[in-house]
Amino acid sequence: MKLIMLGAPGSGKGTQAKKIVEYLKVPHISTGEIFRKNMRENTPLGIKVKDIISEGRLVPDDITIQIVHERLIEPDCKKGFVLDGFPRSLPQAVALDSLHKIDYVINLDVENEIVIARTTGRRTCKTCGTMFNIHEIGGEIVCAKCGGELYIRTDDTLEAVLERLEMYEEKTRPLVQYYAKQGKLVNINADNEPDKVYKAIIEAIKK
Ligand SMILES: [Zn+2]
Repeated sequence: MKLIMLGAPGSGKGTQAKKIVEYLKVPHISTGEIFRKNMRENTPLGIKVKDIISEGRLVPDDITIQIVHERLIEPDCKKGFVLDGFPRSLPQAVALDSLHKIDYVINLDVENEIVIARTTGRRTCKTCGTMFNIHEIGGEIVCAKCGGELYIRTDDTLEAVLERLEMYEEKTRPLVQYYAKQGKLVNINADNEPDKVYKAIIEAIKK
């Protein structure tokens, strides 16, 4: 099964994608994770996208499309995949349609206030990249997995979040209509607890 996770930054796409790939036994393709890994390892791609991402801007379509394309032709994607963070614009969606037949597009619908609270509460491990939320870990400053230092990503500050929400409205929101017209859109209320959201998604894709 080939799925796309759609939703504003902080809608819980990443969290849900991780659970869904366990259920479907397909790879989780997160463009954000691919970019951050490259930035941590200072690869040519990482160096190229570092400033763009830390300023909260969108990585240019041609770079993102190329990276996703290269990832999706790997053998583990033959049975399917869950895309998280891609497509983020109409040109990206059109490019993806020319390469793969998508089964469902899960749209996580969430209030902006909730997005802001979730995102600004995010803490990321400097060493392994695992993300935590202060609503769950309190004032903890080290990673529960590896002991690495937790920090606030520059793209998780309030200013950056507001900017990304605006960018989402402008560039990504039109995809909701785009996939609704194709009859692939599944709307999920993502204001709920993650477990409830997950159950609603599984119910919808079982049909
Ligand atoms: Zn860690």
